[in-house]
Amino acid sequence: MTPRVRFAPSPTGYLHVGNARAAAANALFAARHGGVFILRLDDTDTARCRPEYEAAIAEDLRWLGLAWQEGPLHQRDRLARYAMAAEALKASGRLYPCWETEEELSFKRQQRLKRGLAPIYDRAALALTEEQRARALASSRPPHWRFRLSDGHAEWDDLVLGQRAVKLGAVSDPVLIRADGTPLYTFASVVDDIDHGITHVIRGEDHVTNTGVQRDIIASLGTNPDAMRFAHLPLLVGADGEPLSKRIGSLSLRALRGDGIEPAALLAYLARLGTSSDIAPAGWDELVAGFDFAAFSRSAARFDPAQLLALNRRVLHALPFEAVRARLPEGATETFWHAIRGNLDMLSEARHWWDVVAGAIVPPPIEEEGERAFLAEAAAQLPAGTYDGATFKAWTGALAEATGRKGKALFRPLRLALTGEEHGPELKDILPLMGRDRAYLRLTQAAGGVS
Ligand code: GLU
Repeated sequence: MTPRVRFAPSPTGYLHVGNARAAAANALFAARHGGVFILRLDDTDTARCRPEYEAAIAEDLRWLGLAWQEGPLHQRDRLARYAMAAEALKASGRLYPCWETEEELSFKRQQRLKRGLAPIYDRAALALTEEQRARALASSRPPHWRFRLSDGHAEWDDLVLGQRAVKLGAVSDPVLIRADGTPLYTFASVVDDIDHGITHVIRGEDHVTNTGVQRDIIASLGTNPDAMRFAHLPLLVGADGEPLSKRIGSLSLRALRGDGIEPAALLAYLARLGTSSDIAPAGWDELVAGFDFAAFSRSAARFDPAQLLALNRRVLHALPFEAVRARLPEGATETFWHAIRGNLDMLSEARHWWDVVAGAIVPPPIEEEGERAFLAEAAAQLPAGTYDGATFKAWTGALAEATGRKGKALFRPLRLALTGEEHGPELKDILPLMGRDRAYLRLTQAAGGVS
């Protein structure tokens, strides 16, 4: 059997690390088992869904390197199908009409809480007589429709969490159809999962109660809920242990991309966070080969931006020129990339190093007379001809000889004058890229009046 999985975001906002992690798990699982990864947009809530979010979701998934084989499917294209499924449930008595207003429901909830009861729906509409219901249906006010949950528990063997049970009596009968006739996600999702032959539902732990409810709905539609496997990924928390939801804006894929995080770093991080595998740079094939629900911990996973940044550095340092060429400054060469990549936290910093070797920089002024004299001497000693990897050593060797300087006293002023920075890539690599003329100009400028 070919596994079929889906990632089903609602286009009501940008993707964040929480849902990107679910997307990655779906895509990796499908790839690992020769399955099909489907992108579905849960867009029945027309008031909150927006086309720009839809486009952004597709763009962000592509950026992260997740390719879907089917979709994007839209729930809004399938309203007639959901209506048909709802009719079947009405006929079997599982879907019943309710007329309570929001105010009434909220009042009832408060009353129950005061009496120490769980604030769930009291099924008052289910208690109407046939006659009362017929009269209400004939009235002008359209009802919303609730699903009558079974008694007892919904149980399943979760691929991550193990044996799980949801006590259905502790949950409100869910509204599946709004008064305006549109279906809610809870229902549309079940109909889609059945119709699209979904074999594994992989999503966040926040959906565990939904799974209990949805398995009951699946059964009511005549499908065996055990034919579908469920895997719930434990929640992500911040480094402080707080749920990530509060800072989710800054943890959108867009924001991380803007901050200079590499997609390969984020994917490797999300794929292995909360698992027994090491957080380390890993390509797609490696992530696929290592993907296993059994490796996931059952407790919350800590999303640590510092850890992500450290991984980003390691990923950058190993990236081949071809992978970054298009994002480097115009004219940047492979030699340049190899010289600087080990010094980057983020790719955007390449711009600065390109200015150092091929453009103009403004080094900090050097005030000390002795230092300036040394730099004038360094300029005078610059070798003629073409520069290569050996030039720096030959030059500084001669300079040490002439000035008696060594170590930091020798190299620090050179680095400062040539690059404007205290730290950076090896000067022996930078010097040939910079060339004699640029080096001479920087050194004499730094030397100021002394020449
Ligand atoms: N639209 C739902 C969400 O974004 C989908 C959950 C699911 O995977 O079923 O939470």
